[in-house]
Amino acid sequence: MKPIPRKKWGQHFLSDTNFLHKLVRIINLQPQDSVLEIGPGEGAMTELLASQVKELIGIEIDMNLFEYLKINVRHSNCSFLNRDFLKVELRSLPFSTKPVRVIGNIPYNITSPILFKLMAESAMWQDIHLMVQKEVADRITAQVGSREYGRLTVMLWSKMDVKKKVYAPPEVFIPKPKVSSVFIFLKPHNRYPMDQKKWDLFSKVVKAAFSQRRKMIKNSLREFNFSETAKSQIDFSRRPQTLTVEEFLLLVRDISIVNCK
Ligand code: SAH
Repeated sequence: MKPIPRKKWGQHFLSDTNFLHKLVRIINLQPQDSVLEIGPGEGAMTELLASQVKELIGIEIDMNLFEYLKINVRHSNCSFLNRDFLKVELRSLPFSTKPVRVIGNIPYNITSPILFKLMAESAMWQDIHLMVQKEVADRITAQVGSREYGRLTVMLWSKMDVKKKVYAPPEVFIPKPKVSSVFIFLKPHNRYPMDQKKWDLFSKVVKAAFSQRRKMIKNSLREFNFSETAKSQIDFSRRPQTLTVEEFLLLVRDISIVNCK
């Protein structure tokens, strides 16, 4: 018997067969692919993915669904872990090859933590396809200067290209979510290589800037000691949503002394 969907874990199962096939076509799987599926649920997408790839590991937090998957998804190239994705070290997963392709119809309340985790472990994956709430998709594809443009947009763009692939109406899920969804695609680029220290600093600056969206950056970024080049090239009376990713990067490029809290 199928377990009853649990609200707590954002369980909205993809139930429209045509739509599932459409998603799988979009992903364009290759026989040599290794797939990491976040939250396989009842395995609706898992079955389709597994039949086209070399191997698949699904990480499912819900013990009942995990048991259900083990019994019902019988592809020899599939294995499942009953773990919280946010707590799994991707490097430790027993894939025969990496980087892997990350795929998931994920719980919407943890979309940002999932994206930040994937950013932090970017060497482990090759690309990402995720179903997210439409508002989140709008945010991460927003134009600079718009209301939706924010911390998540800047952080993601510094490491990856983001694309909306297809709109998903509530009707393709059971139970129907209250919001609309969009299937998005993320692919890493290497336009702005940063070492860990620079990345941490960049994260701090972007976070501080957007924690007070309405303030001019000269106020929200007061704790940082920016270089003369940055000061001469960027007008500090601007607000954070008007700064491009390149401008945020310029801010941290040759920052001298930082007194971070
Ligand atoms: N992919 C399935 C299920 C989507 S619902 C489908 O499309 O039908 C989201 C799934 O993510 C649920 O199965 C839920 O139990 C699981 N989940 C929620 N939080 C999780 C977490 N932190 N780690 C792993 N899985 C999680």
